[in-house]
Parts: sequence; structure tokens; C-alpha cells
Amino acid sequence: MTQEIQVYNTLSRKKEKFEPLNAPFVGMYLCGPTVYGPPHLGHARSAITFDIIYRYLSFAGYKVRYVRNITDVGHLENDADEGEDKIAKMAKLEKLEPMEIAQLYTNQYHEDIAQLNVLRPSIEPQASGHIPEQIKFVSQIIDKGYAYAANGSVYFDIQKYAQSYAYGEISGRIVEDLLQNTRNLDGQNEKRNQADFALWKRASPEHIMKWDSPWSVGFPGWHIECSAMSAKYLGETFDIHGGGMDLLFPHHESEMAQAKAVLGHGPAKYWLHNNMITINGQKMGKSLGNFITLQALFAGNHKALEQAYSPMTIRFFILQAQYRSTLDFSNEALKAAGKGFNKLLNAYKILPKLAQTDVLQPSNDKIEKEIKEGIEKCFSGMNDDFNTGITLAGLFALAKPINMFFNGQADIHSISAELYTELQSAYHTFFADVLGLKDESDAQFKSLADEFLEIYKAAKAEKHYDKVDQIRAVFKSRGLVIKDMKHGIDWGYEE
Ligand code: ZN
Repeated sequence: MTQEIQVYNTLSRKKEKFEPLNAPFVGMYLCGPTVYGPPHLGHARSAITFDIIYRYLSFAGYKVRYVRNITDVGHLENDADEGEDKIAKMAKLEKLEPMEIAQLYTNQYHEDIAQLNVLRPSIEPQASGHIPEQIKFVSQIIDKGYAYAANGSVYFDIQKYAQSYAYGEISGRIVEDLLQNTRNLDGQNEKRNQADFALWKRASPEHIMKWDSPWSVGFPGWHIECSAMSAKYLGETFDIHGGGMDLLFPHHESEMAQAKAVLGHGPAKYWLHNNMITINGQKMGKSLGNFITLQALFAGNHKALEQAYSPMTIRFFILQAQYRSTLDFSNEALKAAGKGFNKLLNAYKILPKLAQTDVLQPSNDKIEKEIKEGIEKCFSGMNDDFNTGITLAGLFALAKPINMFFNGQADIHSISAELYTELQSAYHTFFADVLGLKDESDAQFKSLADEFLEIYKAAKAEKHYDKVDQIRAVFKSRGLVIKDMKHGIDWGYEE
């Protein structure tokens, strides 16, 4: 914990020094996916953002308990608690059990984000597995006087809550507007105020996912699961609560209100939110037809895609931006990300081949300075609210001397042994451990390429230029290039 880390807290709307409540332990909760459809770019950005935070805090010496839930019940189509349960609706369409739908897309979520090299969380609770905890939380809110039952459903009483607490504090919504906008109820509505949100919903007879409760046979509202599960696994106050900015309202505002109603304080010290991905400048949405799933990206089979993009290309693309800024998807941006990633990957690939084997030469101050600044940049990026774009710039700065040492433009013995060790360790740490980037080619592919390279070398030595060109073409067709350097020949990825 030698690093001083600054985090932007959505709640205070400023950067704050990261000081966990109970160091070295850190409790972190991320609102995970609602599993009713295939994972897309939006899922990837949220999962990768909090994967980076998890990885860097762990690297900095914290013991992180990372909880990321699965919403498999209670998320209705509409923020006003109306419409069907998203999972039940999909189950009906696909003629499957709701739990089959939830399982299908949970599995797919796991597979897709594992390809993006996202680490598994410490605990991954499912909403449907925590119904008693949610019922208990709802009962406590009723006991405190901030919720009421109506016709078998239970609603959170915003007007009552707003008399003691600031509803809207995290999302920036004005509570008066929310309440005023909704005064004209038609009398049919069970809610006292349209702004009230559901804690428990009575199920209609045909509804499949339903449980007994003190109020009715029904199911929990969407927001209560996160309050119940975060309190169960991380305690009544924990360090980091995360999610996409689209969850600020009503989801996180409601979670905040539920916790304050029962405990008198919010659930988390820091609230972190990642921004959205737009597609050619447009919001991504099923109705807009620009909704690109991760499977489609990996395979390149969507009309908006000019080619397939590898998981690491997508990860690199997401890491180029600080998580709080918007990120615009386009084929051009993805192709550029692929090239940028390969540049860093090539340096990563040659890193183990570098070694100081000779006596040190007079030091090269310029290169030493560049290396020190590059390492410093890797750290300062992560310490400044996990700014992965800056850390990538640090890695690019380090890739330059690595390449120069390798191709003979600079002598590796002109930097101190200490700095050489630091360079090796920093590049590996930030590329692989912190940013979670990796070489996607398997060992067999690489050893085959190595063998082909030997044939190339022999052909070149024997001046069989037809063969030389042929082998070069084979490499190129696989996205590889052969590098003829002063001190030798190697293959790398096309930049
Ligand atoms: Zn949540």
C-alpha cells in the first residue's frame, strides 16, 4: 500500500484519497448483469473497469473481497416497476423456463468476459438465491416507517423518506420534481406517489418466478437485491460500490435510500461509475439496431462490423479511455486499437529475450530517463482514478527502449542493472497483471511460427528468395511479420 490512490466519488462529485474503512481489507460491490440476453459491449466496459480496479488494488497490497451479483429476477422492463420481468418475458419468447434463460445467459456472460481476461469475483451471488434476505430487508424498511404494503405489493415511500434524507443525492435528481411530476394519480395505482418504487411485487397467477412472503406470493423489486446481498457479504458499510452510469437512477438512488432507511447511513464510502459506449456517436440500444454482442464482435458477424475483433483488441480499446469518459465504437477505432495492442504485445514478447550478459557500458542518460518516466507514468495513471489511458501511454514509452535494445539500436548494457530489472518487472506487471492484457496465440501456434522462422532463416542464408517470399506471405496471412534486424531475425505481430 505504498501507492496513494485518488478515486472520483460520484457521491461527493470530486476526487478523494482512497482510504479503506478497514485496511488492508477492501469490500467492493459491482452491480452485475441482468441475465436475459447475450452480453454486449456495455457489459464488457463495466466488467473490465472493475476488473482493473480489483487488479490494481490487489497489486497495491489490499485484500479485496469483490462481490459481483447476477440479477436473475425482479428487473422489470420499465423503471417505473411496470411491464414484465425481463427474464420471464424472454423465457416466454424462447419457450424456456425463466431459470433456463438466466442460466443460459449467465454461462454466456462468464464465457465471453473470461475471453476478455476479466477475473472472476470473490463472490457472485444470485438474486433468486437470496429471497429470505430480501424479504427481511423489506420488513426492516416497513418497520422503520419508510415503506407500505398495498394490495400485496410493498413500495418505498419517497415523500416520507425525503422528509429526513436527501433523495436524489447520488443521481442529482431533484426530489420535488420527481414528486410534483407524479401528483395526478388516476386512483387505480397502488402507489401513494408515482415516484415510489417497488420493494416487493405481488405476482399474477401465471407468473412463474414467485415466492411466499408476509405480503403476498410474489417477487422482489430490482433494487432490494443489491442492498440485501451487499450487506450480507460486505457488511453494513463497505468501501466501493460500482456500476455503469445508467444505474445511477433509479437503481443506485434506490439502494442508497433503502440502506439509509434501515441503517441511517449509505452502504458504501465510494461510489464509482463507468461511462457508456456509443456506436458511431449513437447510444447503443436494441431498438436502434446497433446493439453489438461480444459474440458478434469476436466472430465479425454483425452488419456494423467490417471484420472480427479479438477479445484483447476489445479490451485494449476499452482501456484507452478513462472509465468515466464516453467511448465511441467504430471500425476505425477498433482497427487502430488492434495495431496499438500488437505494438505493446511485441514488446511483451521480446522482453524475456532481453538479458544483460556483458559488462556495463557508460550509461545512456537519455534512455535511462525515458525508462524512468515511462515507469512513473504507468503508476501515476493508475493512481489517478485508474486512468488506464495514461498507463498505456507509459507502456508505449517503455516499448520504445525495449525495441531499441532488441533490434540493436541501443545497447542494453548502457542502463544500470537495477533499472534493467525495474524495466522488466514494470512492463510485465502493468501489461499482464494490472491491465490484464495477454498474448492470445497459444503455445502450439507460437512454436509452429518459430519453426517456420528457422526455415526462413535457412532459405535466406541459401539465397532461395522465392522461398523467402513465400514464407513471408504465409506469416502475413496470419497477421504476423518477419523482422530482419541488425543482430538477428524474429517474428512479431503486425502493428
Ligand atoms: Zn445493483
